[in-house]
Amino acid sequence: MPNSLSTSVKSLLIDGKNVCNQENTFDSINPATGETNYRVSIADERHVAVAVASAKAAVSEPAWRTMLPHIRARILARMSAIMESRSDELARLQMIENGKVWSECKAQVASAAATFRYYAAVCETLGSEVTPSRGDYLSMTAYEPYGVVAAITPWNSPLTMEAQKVAPALAAGNAVILKPSEVTPSVGLMLGEIALEAGLPPGLLNVLTGDGAVTGNALINHPDVRMISFTGGTATGRNIAVTAAQRLIPVALELGGKSPHIIFADANIDAAVEGIVGGIFEGSGQSCVAGSRLFVQRSVYGKVVDALVARVSKFRVDLPDAEGAEMGPLASFPHRDRVERFVAIAKDEGGKVLVGGERPQGSQFDKGAFYLPTIIDGLTNQATAVREEIFGPVLCVLPFEDESDLVAQANDTNFGLASGIWTANYQRAWRVARALETGLVWINTYKQLSISTPFGGFKDSGIGREKGINGVRLYQQSKGIYWSMNPLNMPH
Ligand code: NAD
Repeated sequence: MPNSLSTSVKSLLIDGKNVCNQENTFDSINPATGETNYRVSIADERHVAVAVASAKAAVSEPAWRTMLPHIRARILARMSAIMESRSDELARLQMIENGKVWSECKAQVASAAATFRYYAAVCETLGSEVTPSRGDYLSMTAYEPYGVVAAITPWNSPLTMEAQKVAPALAAGNAVILKPSEVTPSVGLMLGEIALEAGLPPGLLNVLTGDGAVTGNALINHPDVRMISFTGGTATGRNIAVTAAQRLIPVALELGGKSPHIIFADANIDAAVEGIVGGIFEGSGQSCVAGSRLFVQRSVYGKVVDALVARVSKFRVDLPDAEGAEMGPLASFPHRDRVERFVAIAKDEGGKVLVGGERPQGSQFDKGAFYLPTIIDGLTNQATAVREEIFGPVLCVLPFEDESDLVAQANDTNFGLASGIWTANYQRAWRVARALETGLVWINTYKQLSISTPFGGFKDSGIGREKGINGVRLYQQSKGIYWSMNPLNMPH
């Protein structure tokens, strides 16, 4: 079994083999300590060509193409079991690369393993359809894989994001080339290793590390890549969509967000405050669904802000593996610089920092990319920090008057990923949930996620839906098949 952990330069995984590119590497940096974890191979155009050829051969092999769904499902289920048995290793890889706290990393391994289990079940049970016949024939819809799928992922949650693409794409019968973020290369490499251990034939999951400009770009432009599944920033997603349009291949895009989190005056304020704090500050705000714009009904504005500031002042920022840590560092030093720039701009535009707005004090923070959870008010809905995705621990708070004012403000954004509503009035919750232009709505909860519910964004937050039973259909094309019951009765 290949063991990429034991080499000083991490290898690519191509056709079931470790391929090391000693000449061209990048450093993986631990954002909590500033130390180099290891060097990682960069896949260039040549590696992409070999990986795509192996994927194409593997997916065309009768062994995979004709493998019965319940046999394919067995491999996915085995992957799930191995992920669970190697949970600490997987969690640690994510923790040392993006700085998420240990408890969150462990929970994400469990979620990723559940994703493989779920798609094993879907693979085994999802059928083709007999469609209503309009004549003397039987008509059906069958579903077939695209062939080679490129899966490109971001750094904030490689554990869950990568499982969310690899499991359904394999279940659908494709070969996958996974290109993880250059900030978090190792979870994907280990997933490739686990796939081989579970008995997935070589070539069906290749893992190519490297950046977007070289590795990602070569991958999406390769003529034998027939579908792209991308999660990442909106600007990158737009560029990838242009390439996909020129190549006339399908693309699924899970992009950025600036999600409104809403408290009506009749809400359970204590519960709402907990939901809001977790919704933005867990994962240091580096979540696509982070509730980063908080709208509070004016009559309870002061009360809510006071409660939030009190709770956030006690929010435990610490080293990711410290007992009881609620928030670790940001995922990288350049990313912390970016967050700091947004806070400076917010102040220039009239924002008032109510808590945070700086790096934490203490010797354990000196070498890491730490930043305190930050709450800002006094900005308008047009301010830069309110309009742009900061992707960090920064919450902007704004007041609203009534339901129609709230809906207008909440929808006044280019993004449309998620939203949260806190109210005791169920009719209002329903009305507002339907009026919000977001792909997900949480009512009296936040960041509740399940593999069985479709996930994706409206507007600039993306195209397509991952998760759920139809998550497999994202990676398949349908084929209509007609069987005549009377060959002498032809259509005219
Ligand atoms: P990013 O767009 O910079 O990079 C994402 C991935 O795309 C990386 O693997 C990167 O190497 C690759 N890439 C970059 N340029 C490319 C190119 N030209 N061709 C091919 N690949 C290329 O995003 P990021 O900074 O890694 O992640 C943060 C972003 O991801 C945020 O905007 C966040 O909201 C978004 N995100 C969205 C979801 C969702 O489900 N909607 C989930 C998590 C993160």
